[in-house]
Formats: sequence, structure tokens, C-alpha cells
Amino acid sequence: MLMGIRLIFIPFLSILVLACKDKVSVDALESRGTETGGEEIVVHSEYAGIEPTTPEETELYKPVPAVVNPYDPIKKVPSDAIVLFGGDNLDNWISSRDSTAAKWIVNNDGSMTVNNKTGDIQTVQNFGSIQLHLEWKSPAEIQGKGQSRGNSGVFLNGLYEVQVLDNNDNDTYVNGQVGSIYKQHVPLAMASVPTGEWNIYDIIYHAPEFNDEGDKIKSGTITVLHNGVLIQDNVEIKGTTPYIGWPKNPAHGKGPLRLQDHGDNSRVSYRNIWVREL
Ligand code: MG
Repeated sequence: MLMGIRLIFIPFLSILVLACKDKVSVDALESRGTETGGEEIVVHSEYAGIEPTTPEETELYKPVPAVVNPYDPIKKVPSDAIVLFGGDNLDNWISSRDSTAAKWIVNNDGSMTVNNKTGDIQTVQNFGSIQLHLEWKSPAEIQGKGQSRGNSGVFLNGLYEVQVLDNNDNDTYVNGQVGSIYKQHVPLAMASVPTGEWNIYDIIYHAPEFNDEGDKIKSGTITVLHNGVLIQDNVEIKGTTPYIGWPKNPAHGKGPLRLQDHGDNSRVSYRNIWVREL
């Protein structure tokens, strides 16, 4: 009799577990056992009553992540990246002033340099949330001080500036120093290489979201690695990053990536600029 019950019950239990297996979501997995109530573990899951008894029940097989070659043999960047400046020309860039051809200087070493007072340049293509890689260099010959020494900037969505500045032996207000989200977030560290050498910014930008009335319903965020050092850790964008005034929150969709001509002969150079759309 007992054997008969086992024969019926065990297959039934197996079918029940298998039926639930496909429904287990990542959220459900993450929430298991994350909170305690008294001495009991409280599990926030619609499957709380069924504790997995095999490893397979908590293994997911889809969706399968896309394959990205990090060292694409032709592009020399991740295979799904969009190269915005590869060293040869400024075809992907226009003047922010009047949308004519970008007037910055293309050098014969695969870099480009701010052409003083010709204005900012921006990408032809518009982007929303992105992973951005770029390299920048302050002029080796030191000119000016404070905000007037090697000042440029990377404007995400054309609106939110990650500061570029030669801060070596050059103090300024900390929410405007190199790696700051200009006048919003002080960087966690100052990780510049010596003046005249190439810095690397790797930036993850998530665009803010707006409703149909134009109100912001979700803030954007920025993460910055400066030469591999985390200096902005998923910080919340409070709005635009003006020189004078508070941040503003105009509704927007995708926008260009913009690089700053600070207008004071801050001849900053850039190279190897690429993005991956998120
Ligand atoms: Mg700047």
C-alpha cells in the first residue's frame, strides 16, 4: 500500500516541479531568501511554497545573450559598436552651431583636436542610452589655470556634461573637476594620467524618461570609469549641466553626443570614440 502511494505521489511531484520550472523568473530567483522576518525566511515569490530540490530548477536557458566579439578584427572595437571617430575623418560629426561640417583638426596620429573657437562638435547620429568609449588628452604645453586649462567635455544626449579637464596640479571647484558630472556630482576619485598622455573614459549612460506631458518620470544615470577607475557610480542625473543656474529637465528623446570647445585655447585631443547602444 505504502509503495503504491509512493509510486503515484513521486511522479506527480516531479510533474508539478517541472511545470513550475519554466515560470521561474530572474526576479523570483533574486528575491529568494533576501529578507528575514523573525527567525523565518520570507520569500517574495509566487513559487514560495515550492523550494527547488535540484540545480536544474534554478537554471535559465533563454533568452540567450547576443555574441559580441570584443576585438573585432576589422573594426578593432566590439563587433556591435558604432565607431564615431576612428582616426581618419570627421564624417560622423557636425558643428553644433550650424550643422555644417565639423571644423576640428584631424591629426596624422589618428586623433583630432579642438579647433579653438570654432564651437562644439556633435555626432550626426542621435543616441539614447549608450555605452561610450573615448580617449582624450590635455595639451602637453600647459596654458591657463583652473577651468581654463585643458577644458573640454562630453555631453551625453547633447545635454549632460562629463567634465574633461587638466586637473594635474590645477585645483578648481570639485563639482567641476575632471570626471565630474558638471556641477552635479563630484567624482569619487581623480584618476588622470600625467598631462599630455592619453586618458580613457568608459561611460554607461541611461537616458531619463518623460511622459506625454513632458514630465520626467524616471531620472537618467551615469557611470564613469576613468582609466579603469570607477569615478561615477550610477549617479542620478538631476537635469542639464549649465555653467550658471540650476539643472533643467526639458523633455527629450535621443540626441547627439557632443564634445566641447571651451573657447579658451584648451586644445584637448580625442581618439578612438565608439558607442554601443543599450
Ligand atoms: Mg567642460
